[in-house]
Amino acid sequence: MRYVIIGASAAGINGAENLRRLDKESEIVLISEDDKVYSRCILHHYISSKRDVEELNFVDPDFFEKNKINWIKGKKVISLLDEKKEIILSDGEIIKFDKVLIASGSSPFIPPIENLRGKKNVVGLKSLIDCEKIIELAKISKNILVVGAGLIGMDAVVGLLHFKNNDLKISLVEMSDRLLPLQLDKKASITYEKKLQENKVELILNSKVLKANLSKDEPDKIESILLEEGIVIPTDLIVVATGIRANVDFLKDSNVEVDKLGLVLNEKGETNIKDIYGAGDVSGRGPIWSKAVKESIVATSNMAGVHRVMDDFFVCKSTMNFFNIPTLSLGNMNDCLNNTELKIDILEDDKGNYKKIMHKDGYIYGAIIQGDLSYSGILTQLIKADIDILKVKKPIFSIDYSDFFRIKKDLEFEF
Ligand SMILES: Cc1cc2nc3c(=O)[nH]c(=O)nc-3n(C[C@H](O)[C@H](O)[C@H](O)COP(=O)(O)OP(=O)(O)OC[C@H]3O[C@@H](n4cnc5c(N)ncnc54)[C@H](O)[C@@H]3O)c2cc1C
Repeated sequence: MRYVIIGASAAGINGAENLRRLDKESEIVLISEDDKVYSRCILHHYISSKRDVEELNFVDPDFFEKNKINWIKGKKVISLLDEKKEIILSDGEIIKFDKVLIASGSSPFIPPIENLRGKKNVVGLKSLIDCEKIIELAKISKNILVVGAGLIGMDAVVGLLHFKNNDLKISLVEMSDRLLPLQLDKKASITYEKKLQENKVELILNSKVLKANLSKDEPDKIESILLEEGIVIPTDLIVVATGIRANVDFLKDSNVEVDKLGLVLNEKGETNIKDIYGAGDVSGRGPIWSKAVKESIVATSNMAGVHRVMDDFFVCKSTMNFFNIPTLSLGNMNDCLNNTELKIDILEDDKGNYKKIMHKDGYIYGAIIQGDLSYSGILTQLIKADIDILKVKKPIFSIDYSDFFRIKKDLEFEF
C-alpha cells in the first residue's frame, strides 16, 4: 500500500504521523511545495525576529526518518488524476498512489480592487516567503498599510511593530466596526484597540479600500491607497489580510468534488471519490490549526481502516494573545451578534477580565473569554458534554471542575 499526502503543514504532518502510528509497514510519501516545516500561527514572531526558522518548526529533527516518511519537498502538485491514481508534479514526475490525503491548505486572497493585484509591494501573509518579502520591504518603508483586522492582519501588525521607529507609520484598515470581527464583540475589541493606540498604530474602522494609486516612476508599485471616504493613505508596503482561498487548482482535471469554498468532505474526511481524502484549510471551512489537525487524524484513521468521524467540534474556535492579553473566542461572532434570539450572560471586572456566553434553548452558540482564561476549560467541557445550560442550577460562571462529577445520566446537573 502506498499512501500519498499533499501538504506539509498542520493537516499533512499530523496526518502522516497518525498514518504511521496505525500502519507500521505501508509506504508513506509526503509532497509539499514548502521545503520547510513551520507553524503559520507564529509567523509574526519571524517577522519581528523573535524566532528563527528552526524555532517555527513543530516536528522533531528526525521526524521523517523516524516515521519512515519519504518527503518530496519544494515541489508543487499540478494535477491529480483520480482514475489513474496518479499525481503529477511541477517537474513532470508522476507519483502513483493507492490512497491520498489532500492537505494542500489555502492561499491569501487579494481582492479585485483597482490596481491592487500583482503589484510588487502587495503581500499576503501565509508563508515564509511572504514573511521574507514583508521584512525586506518593511526595512525600507516609511508607511505600511495592513488591510483587514482578522487574525492574520493582527498578526501582521504585531510582527511589524518590530520595525517601528519615529519615521515609520503603520495603519490598519478594517471594514467592520471592530477588530477581529469573527472572534470579538466591540467590548473585547476595544481592549486591543487601546493597545494599538498605545503603540501608535493608526486604526481605521468601518472603511473599505476603494483603489490603489500607482507610482508614476514605478508603475508596478503602489504609492497610496484611496479609502471609500476619500481618505488617501500613502504606503510603501501593503499587507493584504482579507481572507483565504482553498488550494484546489490541481484538482481541475479530476472528478473530485470542489464547491465555491473548497474541497467537499464528509465527516470521515472522504471526498466523493474512493481512496481520496482531505483535511484542513483546503475545505475552505473553519481555517484554524486545531481543526486541521483533528480532521487529518480523522481522515488518516479512516484511510488506515480505523473508523472515526469529526464530532462536537466548534468550527470557529480561536485563541489569541495579542499584546499579552489572552482571549478565547467560540462561535462566529458576526452570526451571534446578529442573532437577536440569543440570550447573553456576561461577567466582567475592573481588571479587564471579561466573560460572555451567548445561548439559546440551553445550547451555547458563542462565547468570549478575555483576560483570565481559567474558565475556558469549563466552557469547553460544557460544550463537549453537551450540557443543557438551562438545567445548570448554579450561575453559569460559578461552575467549576468538581461540578462535572455531579452530572446525572441525562446530563442534567445535580446540586
Ligand atoms: C499568519 C497566520 C496566523 C495564523 N494564526 C492562527 C492562530 O493563531 N490560530 C489558529 O488556529 N490558526 C491560525 N492560522 C491558521 C492556521 O495556520 C491554518 O488553519 C493551518 O495552517 C491550516 O493547515 P493546513 O495543513 O490545512 O494548510 P496550510 O497550513 O495552508 O498548508 C498547506 C500545505 O500544502 C502545501 N501545498 C499547497 N499547495 C500545494 C501543491 N499544489 N503542491 C504541493 N504542496 C502544496 C503547502 O506548501 C503547505 O505545506 C494562522 C494562519 C496564518 C497564515
